[in-house]
Amino acid sequence: MGLFMGSERSRHSSAGSRHDAAARSELGRLSWPISDHLLDWSRPEPSFWAATAPLERPGTRLTEEMVVDVAVIGGGYTGLSTALSLASDYRVQTAVIEAGDIGWGASGRNGGIVMLDATKLSYGEMFRKVGADETARYFRSQVEAVRLLRGVISAEAIECDAVNRPGITVATSEKRFEALRAEAALLRGTIGVDAEILTDGAVREQYIDSPAVFGGLRVAPGMALHPLKLAIGLARACERHGVQLYVRSPVVKWHREDDEHLLRTPSGLIRARWVVLATNAFTPDKLYAPFNGRVAPVISNIAVTRPLDEAERDACNLNDPAPMIDDRNLLRYFRMVEGGRLLLGMRSSDDGGAEGAIRSREEIQAAIAELLPPLSGIALDYFWRGPIATTMRRTPGIGRLETDPSVLYGFGYHGNGVNTAIWTGAVLAQLIAEGDATLESVPKLLRGLPPRFPLPSLRNRITGAAMKYYGFKDRMSK
Ligand SMILES: Cc1cc2nc3c(=O)[nH]c(=O)nc-3n(C[C@H](O)[C@H](O)[C@H](O)COP(=O)(O)OP(=O)(O)OC[C@H]3O[C@@H](n4cnc5c(N)ncnc54)[C@H](O)[C@@H]3O)c2cc1C
Repeated sequence: MGLFMGSERSRHSSAGSRHDAAARSELGRLSWPISDHLLDWSRPEPSFWAATAPLERPGTRLTEEMVVDVAVIGGGYTGLSTALSLASDYRVQTAVIEAGDIGWGASGRNGGIVMLDATKLSYGEMFRKVGADETARYFRSQVEAVRLLRGVISAEAIECDAVNRPGITVATSEKRFEALRAEAALLRGTIGVDAEILTDGAVREQYIDSPAVFGGLRVAPGMALHPLKLAIGLARACERHGVQLYVRSPVVKWHREDDEHLLRTPSGLIRARWVVLATNAFTPDKLYAPFNGRVAPVISNIAVTRPLDEAERDACNLNDPAPMIDDRNLLRYFRMVEGGRLLLGMRSSDDGGAEGAIRSREEIQAAIAELLPPLSGIALDYFWRGPIATTMRRTPGIGRLETDPSVLYGFGYHGNGVNTAIWTGAVLAQLIAEGDATLESVPKLLRGLPPRFPLPSLRNRITGAAMKYYGFKDRMSK
C-alpha cells in the first residue's frame, strides 16, 4: 500500500431518509458484551469531566452521502489522533464517525492518568514472548507516546489542565515493596526506563500520607490531565485541519462494494477507500466479521470527592497532582483534581449494570477509608464508570487486516490508553500514508490482530471470573 493524497471527490445526496428505517433496524442487530446501561449514546456519563468541560461540543450529525479517502469509526483518542495526523501530516481527506458526542467513550471519562505500560503481561512474560530487546523497544514506544502526547497538546494549544509529573506506583505491603524494588532494577537496567525507588517516608512526605502505603516506584515520564478537554481539543484541532467530524451517528452497517467501503448510519452513508476501526472497548460484534470477539471489556469505576479542606489535605499530604496507582492486579488509581478533590478509580467484576454500580461505589468508599482514614465516609460528588479493553493475548493490537489491507485497527490498551491511543493513531496514519514498512516500527508485542476470545458470548463471564481471581490473588499475596 502506498502514499495517496486527499482527493477532491465528495458527493452529497439526500440519502438520509431513504436509509433511515433500514439502518435503525441494523443497530439492533449489533451486540456488545456489556450492559445496556453503558450504551446510551444520547447522554454523556455523569462524570466530573463532563461537568467541568466546555459545553459546546464539536461535530454534526451525518445526514447525507459522503465520499472520503479515510473513514475513522470512533471519536476517541485513537480515532481523533489518526484523523489529525492524516489531515495535518499527510493532507488525506478524512472523516471521523462517532456514535455519541466526541469523547463519549473511554476518552472522555478516564482517570486522566498518563503512565507507562498498556499490557497486562509481567516483565517475565514479555521477555519469554519477545525477548529483552523487543521488551525494551516496546517501553521506548511508551515513552515516545508520552512525548508525542505532550507535543500534540503544545502544537495544537490544547487546554486540558495537563501537568507533567512522573507516575507513582505505591506498594500495598512490605512484601510487595520488595517486588517493586526488583521491578525498578529491571526497568532501569535491561528495559532502560527512568525508574526510581521511593522509601515509605518519601512517598508519605511527597505524595500521599497513608497507613496502607509501604514505599513506591517513581517512573518518568508521566502526566495528569483533563481527559475530556483533551478529546475536545483534539477534535477542534481535527476541524482546523479539515477533518469532517460526524457525531451522534453510529455506524450500523459496514460492507464492501468493489474497492469502496460503505458505512451506513441511521441518517447517512459514507463511502471510503480506507476504514480505521477505533472503537476499542466499545467494538460491537457483528459490525465487521474480522473484529468479532477480539475485545473483552472490563469495567472501571471512578469517584471524585467533594473538595477537601486544607486540614484534610494536610492530614493526607495530598499536595502534589502526580498520577498514582497501587501495585494490585486489580489496581486502584488516584490523583488530586481541580478544586482540591480526590479522584479514585478501581476495576470491578460486573458487566456494567445498575447493581454493579451500587456495589462499586461502596467499594470505592471503602478503598478511600482504607487508603486515607481521615477521609473515611467523605461525600462522593461524582461517580461514573466505563469499560476498558482487554485482549486474549493481553496486549494491544495495532495494524491492518491481512485479508483486507484497506482496513486498519488499534485497540486493547488495557486501561492505559491516554498516551498509547494517541501514539497508535499516529502509527495508523503513517501506515496508511507511507505503507507497510511502518508496521516494522510497531513493537512485536503490539503488532497485528489479537486472537479471538474462545466462546465470545461468554466473554463478560470469563473476564468477571478473571477479575474475581485477581482480587483473590491480591488478598492472598499481601
Ligand atoms: C473508567 C475508565 C478509566 C480509565 N482511566 C485511564 C487512565 O487514567 N489512564 C489511561 O491511560 N487510560 C485510562 N483508561 C483507558 C482509556 O480511556 C482508553 O484506553 C482510551 O480512551 C481509548 O481510546 P479510544 O479512542 O481507542 O476508545 P474510546 O475513547 O472508547 O472511543 C471509542 C468510540 O467508538 C465509538 N463507537 C463504538 N461503536 C461505534 C459505531 N458503530 N459507530 C460509531 N462510533 C462507535 C464509541 O461511542 C466511542 O466513543 C480508562 C478507561 C475507563 C473506561
